[in-house]
Amino acid sequence: MSYTGPDFEPPQPRRSPLRRPLTVAIAALVPGALLGWGVYAAVSGPDDGGGGGADRASGARTSAAPSSDGPASPSAAPKAPTGTSPSPSTRKPSPSASKSAPARGANGPLEGKVVVIDPGHNPGNFRHASEINRKVNVGTHWKECDTTGTATDAGWPEAKFTLDVAHRLRTLLEEQGATVELTQDDDRPYGPCVDERARIGNEAKADAAISIHADGSGAGNRGFHVILPGSVHDGEADTRAIVAPSAELGQRIAGGFVRVTGSAPSNYVGGGTGLVTRTDLGGLNLSTVPKVFIECGNMRDGKDAALLTSGDWRQKAAQGMSEGIVSFLRG
Ligand code: ZN
Repeated sequence: MSYTGPDFEPPQPRRSPLRRPLTVAIAALVPGALLGWGVYAAVSGPDDGGGGGADRASGARTSAAPSSDGPASPSAAPKAPTGTSPSPSTRKPSPSASKSAPARGANGPLEGKVVVIDPGHNPGNFRHASEINRKVNVGTHWKECDTTGTATDAGWPEAKFTLDVAHRLRTLLEEQGATVELTQDDDRPYGPCVDERARIGNEAKADAAISIHADGSGAGNRGFHVILPGSVHDGEADTRAIVAPSAELGQRIAGGFVRVTGSAPSNYVGGGTGLVTRTDLGGLNLSTVPKVFIECGNMRDGKDAALLTSGDWRQKAAQGMSEGIVSFLRG
């Protein structure tokens, strides 16, 4: 979820003087990427889609999680010092930050390419409120280390969703020969903090990085959107060199996502482009490699939740992201 957490604060994109022009420019530059969605929508309709039947059942029980309601996580969110990041895991070849051996696609088209996948939040965050609420410096300001993330009305947590999609995406990218690293794999009690999530991509010298999320907006708000880093140069943050390549990465991912899932771009942010530029996210502000976030849908909307809880749909979501990343990396 994005608008309720540490790395996600109330959407003010609307007001950002940066956003509109950039979005428009982007839309103008990459119409091709999103064109597919209009066509698809016309043919099959943007909603419904993956039967969430089976998955739903399983998902319905994880109630422990962020029992949150919209604003739930915002408050339950973060605050931790990262300089001291408690995450021993990420620094080194930690368990999560372990590079998966490109066993299968060693000779694929992405051989030699490194992709860092950041599964948003962590299933254990809700048990570590004080730790994730500590503040970390994200260049422009201080914000919570991490947040719990949102959940479906039935209680299936975003953190489970992000890990599942991350695993699917990792498999697809490895099949193409890429070396893939996850920022966390449910192998640590909480976190990592947002600054550390960025650092992992930087230290891996990732050719592309993607942070996976699902939103926690109001019912009726539907669709996906890709968040692009805006230009920030403040403190430790300097995104100037990654703004352009990240925009290209994001456009390609949005295009792939639309084509494969058939989902429509967000109907509540991005003006129908599926692209939003933000300068308040630590995970983007502190990145020195091309990076974007993707909000795959709105967990608080029944129709979107039906998709998000469907394994078949999640596979399509991962496939769409993979196609966009492959396209970006192959130029
Ligand atoms: Zn999230």
